Amino acid sequence: MRLVMASANPNKAAEIAELLTDHDIEPRPPGLGDILESEETLEGNARLKAVTVCNNANVAAVADDTGLEVDALGGLPGVRSARYAGEDATDAANLSKLLQQMEHVEEVARTARFRTVAIVVLPGGSEFLSHGVVEGSICTTPRGEGGFGYDSVFVPHDGDGRTFAQMDADEKHAISHRGRAFRSLAEQLR
Ligand code: IMP
Repeated sequence: MRLVMASANPNKAAEIAELLTDHDIEPRPPGLGDILESEETLEGNARLKAVTVCNNANVAAVADDTGLEVDALGGLPGVRSARYAGEDATDAANLSKLLQQMEHVEEVARTARFRTVAIVVLPGGSEFLSHGVVEGSICTTPRGEGGFGYDSVFVPHDGDGRTFAQMDADEKHAISHRGRAFRSLAEQLR
């Protein structure tokens, strides 16, 4: 299937392309500006991105929206994960705010999960949608050079104690929120 990439984040776009190898993924239309993620849910924002790009390109569009839910912070940053430290915050600023907010949280209470909503919207408005979740804990000091975003502080419970940033791409995909969401989406598309 021909799919236009709706996600503007190059790290996410690369992971999505690695997970949807059965499909012909085209780059996001270059003239399209930022899409304001104005919805209150991951599903709403994922759909907003895919519908906007699908309408612009008149080709089926694929998007994901992802949030990190930290139990000790009442589920924050959640849907605001990209903007946790401010509207145009960098990954480094978001990460540093997260560690600072969790400074006094003890080891057993540092549980968290990544949640991804993956979506394909077709011209005409029909859609395929799936969810992926990975449970884990937030470590106190970043570890690893790979990945992006919050990867260097997220230790998945299905892993061996390493953070996502210490794994190679295939190891991360095997257990990650995005791997789970897009494998299920690929199944629906088949
Ligand atoms: P969004 O889905 O593009 O809105 O991203 C939400 C936020 O979560 C951004 O700050 C991303 O850097 C971060 N993020 C998304 N996916 C991942 C991931 O797989 N690992 C670590 N951080 C991620």
